[in-house]
Amino acid sequence: EQLANQIAAGEVVERPASVVKELVENAVDAGATTIDLTIEEGGLNLIRVIDNGSGIQPEEVELAFQRHATSKLLSSADLFRIASLGFRGEALPSIAAVSRVECISSPTADGLGYRLAIEGGTIKQQGPVNAQQGTEMSVRDLFYNTPARLKYMKSIQTELGHISDYMNRIALAHPGIAFTLRHNGNELLRTPGTGDRLQVIAAVYGTSAAKAMYPISAETPDYTLNGYISKPELTRANRNAITIVVNGRYIRSFLVNQALLQGYHTLLPINRYPLVALEIGMHPSLLDVNVHPSKMEVRFSKEPELRALIEEAVRKVLGRDRYIPEP
Ligand code: ADP
Ligand code: MG
Repeated sequence: EQLANQIAAGEVVERPASVVKELVENAVDAGATTIDLTIEEGGLNLIRVIDNGSGIQPEEVELAFQRHATSKLLSSADLFRIASLGFRGEALPSIAAVSRVECISSPTADGLGYRLAIEGGTIKQQGPVNAQQGTEMSVRDLFYNTPARLKYMKSIQTELGHISDYMNRIALAHPGIAFTLRHNGNELLRTPGTGDRLQVIAAVYGTSAAKAMYPISAETPDYTLNGYISKPELTRANRNAITIVVNGRYIRSFLVNQALLQGYHTLLPINRYPLVALEIGMHPSLLDVNVHPSKMEVRFSKEPELRALIEEAVRKVLGRDRYIPEP
């Protein structure tokens, strides 16, 4: 069991950013409206996520750290979980196998909760405590008992970069959730959680970037598009500022990127890239889950329809700048 957890940990927990991803996605799944992430030393010393979500019942806290113990029903949202994790109910035991975890959670507003401390997969302490409604997960000394893995960690700046990039994208995916990110005491991100994606763009990329965005909104019978693409005055030298959200989850998609750039590059230089935050909505049956387990890649049915929709939507908004009607 311990060994199984460590093997699983090798697949799920690649670096601090993987822990952040699992903890934050659990908070999102728990319906949190505020999610605060505190990290120290690129996440190698501390990763703490505090959410105001549904919390965990006291008698279920220990269970949450056992393999394949998931409270989540199989739903379309699970397709994403399967795609990102490979298995369900695997994240917490995997993380706990390679770190020191403290979990404090309460499902009620009466100030009573439950705390569990677990180190290298072994429970050290548990019992009732005072706690706010929601969940606080602290992961300390990641990979302390797997020195080979620890050796693979890059610089603090690199690990922080991965965490920060993930937080930016999850915040762009969930404009209705207020996120904060603090590293070694410095606040690096704060989103207002109003539901307005343009405000998240302002928080992530700056207010001047937010002022240089066109809204995109288009639909076919199968797909809807909603989001923003930067105006021609705000081009970038790489494609790292393209965030794609599908049915509320941040994903990667070669097809969507290609369609976006196809549309973009008919009007703008091919060595320049846009800033994009685009949400694509569709019936879950149009999503293919047979994808790479460690990445968040998905495939779509009716690809030509989606591709054409995206390309045309991009050309249409950018074309306003290009094709000024003759007087
Ligand atoms: P999964 O997310 O696939 O169910 P995890 O190992 O990530 O598996 O979590 C196990 C269980 O612990 C979840 O199903 C959920 O019931 C509970 N849990 C974990 N984190 C939270 C949280 N922040 N808020 C509420 N419940 C949580
Ligand atoms: Mg999870």
